Amino acid sequence: MSAIATRNYGLFIDGQWKETNNQDEVIDKCTGSVIGTVSVSTKEDVDLAVESAKKALRKSFHPYERYTVLKKAAEGLMARQEELAVILAEEVGKPIDEGRGEVARAAQTLEISAEEAKRIHGEGIPVEAAPGSENRQAYTKRVPVGVIAAITPFNVPLNLACHKIGPALAAGNSVILKPAEVTPITALVLAEVFEAAQLPPGRLHVLTGEGPAIGGWLLDNQDVNMFTFTGSPRVGQLIREKAGLRKVALELGNNSATIIHRDANISEAATVTAQKSFNNAGQVCISVQRVYVHEEVYEEFLTKMKEVANSLVVGDPKDESVNIGPMIAEKEAIRVEQWVNEAVSSGAVIETGGRREGVFYQPTILTHVHDDMKVCRQEVFGPVVAVTTYQTEEEVIARVNDSEYGLQAGLFTNSLAFAMKAADEIEVGGLMINDTSGYRVDQMPYGGVKKSGSGKEGPKYAIQEMTEERIVVFNI
Ligand code: NAD
Repeated sequence: MSAIATRNYGLFIDGQWKETNNQDEVIDKCTGSVIGTVSVSTKEDVDLAVESAKKALRKSFHPYERYTVLKKAAEGLMARQEELAVILAEEVGKPIDEGRGEVARAAQTLEISAEEAKRIHGEGIPVEAAPGSENRQAYTKRVPVGVIAAITPFNVPLNLACHKIGPALAAGNSVILKPAEVTPITALVLAEVFEAAQLPPGRLHVLTGEGPAIGGWLLDNQDVNMFTFTGSPRVGQLIREKAGLRKVALELGNNSATIIHRDANISEAATVTAQKSFNNAGQVCISVQRVYVHEEVYEEFLTKMKEVANSLVVGDPKDESVNIGPMIAEKEAIRVEQWVNEAVSSGAVIETGGRREGVFYQPTILTHVHDDMKVCRQEVFGPVVAVTTYQTEEEVIARVNDSEYGLQAGLFTNSLAFAMKAADEIEVGGLMINDTSGYRVDQMPYGGVKKSGSGKEGPKYAIQEMTEERIVVFNI
């Protein structure tokens, strides 16, 4: 797999590329070598982008034009799939085939957004039914919120950016994207793709540089009408507090649970669970972290899950045979190592993995855990899964719910009654029956409850967040 030549990237503001004197290096997470540099935005750049975004709103951008641009951008992404997969392997450390998958999903997200651009509609409101309003008629329409700031995390930098840009543009907004410092290149290539798709200038801006600085300047600028954020609960809360009365959509963390009931297909459940615990080195917000296995099938499940985990290859993400690449930074791998060591000192047993080599952490299964260990209670965001037993349906539902988070959960069972009970009682944004917490396709509503956030993604649902309902009443 050939490397992409080192490039210097500018900021994308008002349809123009602007290189600044101050540049940040972007590092290959596996080798540590520099793969490119990006410009560092100043406050003036942020204000210029916001002003241009606001100005662009005054120019017409009809739904069919939005459809055409988004459709072309989806095709443009697929035309650059291999190049983007290499960038994802380098700047994220994502295995190359997972990267290809992310590009294909990002194209899907834009295509679905394109389709939704043609379906945004209001409804007739029977105001004439109110006494004294016999001569009136009314309808609602959905109007864009205006200028949207989109702030994205490092782990899925392309598709999560598309989950914000796609619906925002489909709904007629202007967007300012602030990608994560450590993975900015995919976002800049995405801007090139939109430029080639002839997106009108001012509708999309990409600002690279430090999160707290750019985030702060965006929050200070009252011409930004909405913040859509995916990342850690700490930063999400800060944005919520500083945004004041403006709209905020937050996609935050999780310590995702999956239940394996005694009547499930255990071999299949163990295989899928092992795969979904270690994707992207476990750095996925719906990565399986807590596994609750019915005590009657525990041994069978654990044996199979260990077999699958042991077959996973850790190494250079550009090697086609590798399943698990490096973590985003060595300090994160060290943090995971410390959490595992802490669990072991409190009685946990390492069934497989439990070793760190630099930035790599082996896929790790822990047993004999208890619910108050960090590896269960907090978000690990690494390739570590804690497997434990349960006896009754009531007990396991209570333990899954005993969490600050509530993004998604999984349940393997052939009991319709248990599945229906879990759908009623498990406190999450999404419950996957006969799959893990890690299932997601891009058209579905996606978002959490509790500390996992508020507001939904999935183009159709994000468009609801990114538009206002306006009622028009006629006095005839
Ligand atoms: P992070 O919160 O550290 O950073 C996310 C983004 O916020 C980055 O662009 C960063 O530069 C920016 N940022 C940092 N400080 C800021 C500030 N003060 N003001 C404004 N912006 C600021 O998160 P991360 O480490 O990149 O990503 C990991 C987290 O993201 C995990 O908690 C994970 O669960 C979560 N995540 C959630 C979802 C979801 O859909 N719910 C998806 C992916 C990741």
